[in-house]
Amino acid sequence: MLQEIRLAIAARVLEVSRTKGVTGPGEASVEYRLVRNAKAAAVRSGRLSAEDVCDAHPELLRAARNIGRPTEDRCPVCDGAVTVEVTYVFGAKLPAGGTCPGTATELKRLLRREEPVQAYTVEVCTACKFHHLLRRFPGDAAATPASRRSRSGS
Ligand SMILES: [Zn+2]
Repeated sequence: MLQEIRLAIAARVLEVSRTKGVTGPGEASVEYRLVRNAKAAAVRSGRLSAEDVCDAHPELLRAARNIGRPTEDRCPVCDGAVTVEVTYVFGAKLPAGGTCPGTATELKRLLRREEPVQAYTVEVCTACKFHHLLRRFPGDAAATPASRRSRSGS
């Protein structure tokens, strides 16, 4: 049964990544909203238990409470609270666990780094601990020609 859900989700991801905006040559911003909705639907219908999707790490919950940006959506699982978004940025010369910019300005600065970065936005419900990867997108360096990027090397 879980296998079926995974296949359905994988199909949706492919569908979404083909239709959503491309931010640079070969580097797509991928939206996972449909996957999120499929997960929530699976919980509602009993195919997944709430514990399977409501297990946000304490660090993530802390970030969500302190610097999460409110979304316009209620939690699809508990329907009790508006969810927040937390963005993590990964890349060379950044902490292995990624860094979590606290402001939009800080995020912009990270995305403009010379070294390629990858950002992951996670949606979190601080009420029931539902969390889900909402979107993945590259930094600005990925959108610029390789010739410009190569200057930062050796
Ligand atoms: Zn919730």
